[in-house]
Amino acid sequence: ENYHAVLTENRKLFNELQELKGNIRVFCRVRPFLPGQGAPNTVVEHVGEDGELVVTNPTRPGKDGLRQFRFNKVYSPNATQAEVFSDIKPLVRSVLDGFNVCIFAYGQTGSGKTYTMTGPDGASEEDWGVNYRALNDLFKISQSRKGNINYEVGVQMVEIYNEQVLDLLSDNISQKKYPFSTSWILSTTSENGLAVPDASMYPVTSTSDVITLMDIGLQNRSVGATAMNERSSRSHSIVTVHVRGKDMKTGSVLYGNLHLVDLAGSERVDRSEVKGDRLREAQHINKSLSSLGDVIFSLASKSSHIPYRNSKLTQLLQSSLGGRAKTLMFVQLNPDATSYSESMSTLKFAERVSGVELGAAKSSK
Ligand code: ADP
Repeated sequence: ENYHAVLTENRKLFNELQELKGNIRVFCRVRPFLPGQGAPNTVVEHVGEDGELVVTNPTRPGKDGLRQFRFNKVYSPNATQAEVFSDIKPLVRSVLDGFNVCIFAYGQTGSGKTYTMTGPDGASEEDWGVNYRALNDLFKISQSRKGNINYEVGVQMVEIYNEQVLDLLSDNISQKKYPFSTSWILSTTSENGLAVPDASMYPVTSTSDVITLMDIGLQNRSVGATAMNERSSRSHSIVTVHVRGKDMKTGSVLYGNLHLVDLAGSERVDRSEVKGDRLREAQHINKSLSSLGDVIFSLASKSSHIPYRNSKLTQLLQSSLGGRAKTLMFVQLNPDATSYSESMSTLKFAERVSGVELGAAKSSK
């Protein structure tokens, strides 16, 4: 690919993206009914091309039960992984121009968060989620700019479980002698949005490096059984991509960060009928998800105090929420009628954070 062609295309995509209002976007994705789940009974009444979503209350058939939402985009159940990624490509690419970007997946367990961010278990390239596609694309573009701008890419993977940050790429890999020479990242990213000061970071130069790392990270995630889903995620997982680009003509250096966040399930505690450890987990999850909502909300209302410190999640992402940073939230919906009340609370959360202009807000410590 020709460098100038890529730059031109990138700029075009980027300008298109800028036309979306503000620095936060909310995309709603409705997952399909899964085979073997019985007769589909959907709450999704209408998906509009313009980001309109109409849901119907299964206990109130007819006009009274309809509720309308509007987001930057809504995907119907048959949207492919490639379609979804093509819409966020410019956002991902802006990282190579020195922007900080956060991409979240929010929704109840089983609504397709991991499918969107990572893909199904053992995914083929066609089924790859955002994480693989994003890194693949970053490598492609950085290759095409080589000689003009030379990039280095580093990856961290952590999870937040019960408000504790766990390094998903700790010793395992160093034992496998994965190359580790990232002093540039460690010394320079603290003011540029280093996600986790104490978590391992690995330089990556190819998609296969990334696949190796993600496999190890995914194996290390805390997953366990609940009444709702045996692979329920009760932790937030964050893949952070750090980019350093050196302009070979001027010698100037730029930094960008991409945080890819698969949030813990947003379902309410009573729904899973949990006790003990599970209850504690659920309380931590509720707290961090509501803190995330509060931070975005405070940025929107230009509050002088942004409550970043109320949860580990918002603390870690502080430098990438607000200022020039860009945020995208995938709001995931399970279309089944039995999930109606969870879907409504998901949509209300999304409504609260959408339409918010993060860029205009001042960040505070
Ligand atoms: P979550 O991460 O929110 O708990 P998952 O991503 O694990 O949910 O999705 C639950 C199930 O639905 C998985 O079996 C997943 O493969 C499937 N699924 C989710 N979204 C889609 C989709 N868009 N197309 C096909 N299958 C999907």
